[in-house]
Amino acid sequence: MLELEKQVAIVTGGSRGIGRAICLSLSRRGATVVACARSEAALKSLADDAMEGQHAGRIEPSVLDVGDRDAIGKLVDTVSDAHERIDILVNNAGITHDGLLMSMEDDQFESVLTTNLRSAFWLTRAVSRIMVRRRYGRIINISSVAGMMGNPGQANYAASKAGLIGMSKSIAKELGRRKITCNVVAPGFITTDMTDILPDDLKANVKKLIPLGRLGDVEEVAEVVAFLAGAAASYITGQVIVVDGGMHM
Ligand code: NAP
Repeated sequence: MLELEKQVAIVTGGSRGIGRAICLSLSRRGATVVACARSEAALKSLADDAMEGQHAGRIEPSVLDVGDRDAIGKLVDTVSDAHERIDILVNNAGITHDGLLMSMEDDQFESVLTTNLRSAFWLTRAVSRIMVRRRYGRIINISSVAGMMGNPGQANYAASKAGLIGMSKSIAKELGRRKITCNVVAPGFITTDMTDILPDDLKANVKKLIPLGRLGDVEEVAEVVAFLAGAAASYITGQVIVVDGGMHM
């Protein structure tokens, strides 16, 4: 029997990048994965890829804007009605909307906070009610080293990612007695659409700051998430696992 067989996972931001790799990694280990994002076509192609790769677990596409609190409630109801369990929640959806502090608009700050942090609160609150009833759960929040170090031009993003760390530690303390763990994965620079938009000279300078001398791959983050979702991580909670090639140490 595969490690995550019969388990049900919800992963936000599953349509591309790190979230897509997380969906594939969990489904390879046997989990049924509800992959959420706004792009229906990308989610469908993800589900097809899992099927073609003959993964043990299925990927179920679910179109969701994580900024829509009511839609989050409906998603959790639908998944728990259909499967009668939610074992794993990965809050991965995230955006950047960079700008210097003095010219940052309220909306620029709010939209990043809503997509990256409020959504994780709404989803975790709803899913935790199901996990508490079943006395089991693995919650994994995708933060960033920016939430630990700060970054010029990213007051909004760094605040959202630092917020995820504080929220996760609180949840870990609150739900530990119910056998629910809550951990954070904090990537450094990983090759995805989010980092593809950065200028080449900036990427070259970043590489100089990374002891391993390169950007990370999405699978290198996804494998850590799968570890935290699996049996081997049963005594780990409230931790921040940094996956950054040594950049932040
Ligand atoms: P990405 O390639 O830009 O993908 C972002 C994902 O989030 C997409 O699947 C996108 O799907 C989804 N998303 C964005 N807004 C959403 C919304 N309102 N509702 C639902 N889904 C939404 O980003 P990534 O690099 O894979 O990043 C994934 C996570 O890792 C983010 O939280 C990011 O902050 C974090 N991270 C990334 C890096 C890096 O170097 N790449 C470093 C540190 C942390 P749709 O557009 O289809 O909705």
